[in-house]
Amino acid sequence: MAYKIERNIVVPDKYVQNASGFVAPFRQVHLHSTANPSAPLNNEVAYLSRNYQNGNYTHLVGENGRVIQVAEVGQGAWDLGGNWNAETYAAIEFGEKVTSQDDFNKSYKAYIELARDLAKQAGIPLTLDTQDVSGIKTHNYASSTGHGSDHVDPIAFLAKWGVSYAQLKRDIENGFEAQSAENQTKKETENNFTEEIEMYLINCIDSKRWYVSTGVDVRYIKTTRILGNYGNQYGKLNLRVDKMYQKELDVEFGKNATDPKRDISK
Ligand SMILES: [Zn+2]
Repeated sequence: MAYKIERNIVVPDKYVQNASGFVAPFRQVHLHSTANPSAPLNNEVAYLSRNYQNGNYTHLVGENGRVIQVAEVGQGAWDLGGNWNAETYAAIEFGEKVTSQDDFNKSYKAYIELARDLAKQAGIPLTLDTQDVSGIKTHNYASSTGHGSDHVDPIAFLAKWGVSYAQLKRDIENGFEAQSAENQTKKETENNFTEEIEMYLINCIDSKRWYVSTGVDVRYIKTTRILGNYGNQYGKLNLRVDKMYQKELDVEFGKNATDPKRDISK
């Protein structure tokens, strides 16, 4: 968890649940954006504290990754304008007042991580907008399937800052840690792979010279002892051997590189 939750509860505990008679289980986390590009988060909270009777949510995210909890979770909410209000474990609003791409990126990361953490906390599957009642849902999806009002947030707002719907779905379902761990493994694998295949021996058919190559450079191998190391006579490198004519090699790497008198310290 990279974000910190500031608790500023302005919706009375069980207010919605008692007023609407909502009962457990609460099987969804809802994703919204505020549609209010000029309001600082504190103003949103102040507004909610006076108007929660008309609509409410549980968390507010924005301003470089700030997270404010404004209502208790697991009680339903009046956030969708439809019957899935009774499924709200948590409803997260992304404050649309964004001052830079960096600001957005930090808040987006918190938005995704918070949604995933709240879902995990409630045993809700990490899925986005699937037909199953349980899962994380955008307001847009609830509306388009008859479970919300006509609101289509947060799709256009995220797209404006470079996050496509496909990206949102990927991030909600996989998170960031898994992705970066995967990338890391992939990178390491690639590096190993590179080292293994890109070093090889070249034996010139006509000049009988031996070279070791990385694919972008060659070094003349002076002694049979070193050649033995490369070729697995004594060492463990066990490099493959390419046969080439000296002239081909000179063309490929340049005569300066293939010259046996080349000073490789330069
Ligand atoms: Zn909404």
